[in-house]
Amino acid sequence: MSDSVKEVLPTQNSISVGVRELEELRRKSIENPDLFWEPVANELFWFEKQGPLFEKTDAPPFGQWFGNWKTNLCFNSVDRWEKSARKNRVAFFWEGEPGDRRAITYHELYREVNRMASVLLNLGVREGDRVTIYMPLIPETIVAMLATVRIGAIHSVVFGGFTSQALADRVNDSNSKVLVTADGGWRRGKVVELKKIVDDALKQCPTVKKVVVVKRTGQEVDMDPYRDFWYAELMKGAETYVKPVAVPGSHPSYILYTSGTTGKPKGAVHSTGGYMLWVYYTQKAVFDMRDEDIYWCTADVGWVTGHSYVVYGPLLNGGTSFLYEGAPDFPEPDRWWRMIEEYGITILYTAPTAIRSFMKFGDKWPHMHDLSSIRLLGTVGEPINPEAWNWYYRTIGRNCCQIVDTWWQTETGGIMISPQTGTTQIPLKPGSASVPLPGVDAHVVDESGAELPENTKGFLVINHPWPGQFLTLWEDKERFDSVYFKRFPGKYYAADYAMKDHDGYFWLLGRADEVLKIAGHRIGTIELEDILISHPAVAESAVIGKFDEVKGESPVAFVVLRPGHGPTPATRRELMDHVRNNMGPIAVPGALYFVEKLPKTRSGKIMRRLIKAVVEEKALGDVSTLEDSSSVDEAEKAYRELQAEIHRGG
Ligand code: ATP
Ligand code: MG
Repeated sequence: MSDSVKEVLPTQNSISVGVRELEELRRKSIENPDLFWEPVANELFWFEKQGPLFEKTDAPPFGQWFGNWKTNLCFNSVDRWEKSARKNRVAFFWEGEPGDRRAITYHELYREVNRMASVLLNLGVREGDRVTIYMPLIPETIVAMLATVRIGAIHSVVFGGFTSQALADRVNDSNSKVLVTADGGWRRGKVVELKKIVDDALKQCPTVKKVVVVKRTGQEVDMDPYRDFWYAELMKGAETYVKPVAVPGSHPSYILYTSGTTGKPKGAVHSTGGYMLWVYYTQKAVFDMRDEDIYWCTADVGWVTGHSYVVYGPLLNGGTSFLYEGAPDFPEPDRWWRMIEEYGITILYTAPTAIRSFMKFGDKWPHMHDLSSIRLLGTVGEPINPEAWNWYYRTIGRNCCQIVDTWWQTETGGIMISPQTGTTQIPLKPGSASVPLPGVDAHVVDESGAELPENTKGFLVINHPWPGQFLTLWEDKERFDSVYFKRFPGKYYAADYAMKDHDGYFWLLGRADEVLKIAGHRIGTIELEDILISHPAVAESAVIGKFDEVKGESPVAFVVLRPGHGPTPATRRELMDHVRNNMGPIAVPGALYFVEKLPKTRSGKIMRRLIKAVVEEKALGDVSTLEDSSSVDEAEKAYRELQAEIHRGG
């Protein structure tokens, strides 16, 4: 660890003033939610404020926020700036993959959103109806989301990289009436033919009556004269103002399916009032967005990070964001760094998977550009291993930018555990997401639900409802109750492992269902993966447990090597020794396979359950969110080859 990293770490046993301050704030917010959140709510616009701000309920999720207050998420994101100096400020700088550029001011966004709301009304969409949005990352995607909530309808954004079957399943689950798409989108210099995928999917989707098509890539597409309409044509005949519908705080704003890392995706339904307050507050508290900032959250709008921290959080705060349509390494692996330099981006919020792939490309690419505009870095999606943290801190942050490691989930609506640079600065600890935000009553408990002492690994639970909490799973109340509230009655079960240290910092230790039980020891897959990644030959790794008659489970590792390292028996032996020396003989993998890539979700998370299925020779289960099916074929091949070798006595 470099000296500069040490400087930001706390000295032993000295909790900084900042940490105490945050803890005090959090205590008050949980003891008296009304008192704490009312001034924050007053910074937003409400048509009506009737009834309690927060109310306990008997059934999961055990609380309701702004149940009878009336508001509109689109009004707060867009209209609120119409009579302020922000009206003419750029809301989004956008760059397409081919290099085309647009800048959209708040006022331009307001005009476009109103007309799109009129288009949706003309197509028969009404309050409570569902609209599926299947788009590339272009400004019209955001326009469609805002227009939907403006009229009180519910959007379901489906990531533009999903197959037609995955799209059809999500459309049918939500029974959408209208679908908004584009002719295509750009990815690695090629057109992804979105409209074709839609045509294929809709053969199975009887509820979709109308399709709106944005022209993006310009190739020829089939248009059904009764069903399909060009966006530009519809917008021509649209009204320039549509009154925003005043909906209750508890009205659903959107449905979003989880990543599907651990099983069949769950359709999380978010509220309007509580969700709005939560993303507004967390955007401000965590990122401290200022007037001079150009903020870039690299997530696709198809994920919750895109909903909360590309669209709603920045707009509710009147900030200026940057958006990029395409692949990070196109045409060369310096694409991101070039755009950061050119646009003068000040805040970068991305995922460990992206950081690890940039590490693999090498330092040469970021070093080609001046990254001195960056003042704050963020990460989300998976635990960030120390190697990646340090690389991010040194190479992108130039040893001087804070990193906000933000822990949260699709279900939580917004960031739950993170440093809060907009409230008070606290010392960083690489690998810890630090402390919970106000309103987040996070605890670490054992199997029986009893609170664990510090520095002890257990299950992360949230004891008190928080404003951004999801309302339910779409048309599956039973699954909602049983997945999240049954294991520890009355508490929200996050299904992640965590540990709280003596300073009150939380360490997220991977998924609770991704743990190895080796001869009575419980070892998180992530701990073993971190050790493998700390070896200079390893770029990425995934570890799973395989049934073993003697030990219960035996660790099995899949490894992606860095360029310049060969998949030889010598490398394999060296990696086994590396685990033995760093974790002990018990953790040494029973088998270690070399692959070119790991199976990941389309949001970049490792799908360990698929590797487990391969190794245990079982059915794969739901693969709708798998990014690249050849990764599973490769894992199967590596597995079979090694089995054959073992058979031959190799
Ligand atoms: P599914 O619930 O369908 O299995 P998923 O959990 O991957 O999919 P998301 O809601 O996108 O879907 O991801 C939330 C999960 O991501 C968290 O529960 C946690 O495991 C992981 N995660 C997110 N941010 C962090 C972080 N900063 N540190 C550690 N883990 C994180
Ligand atoms: Mg999850």
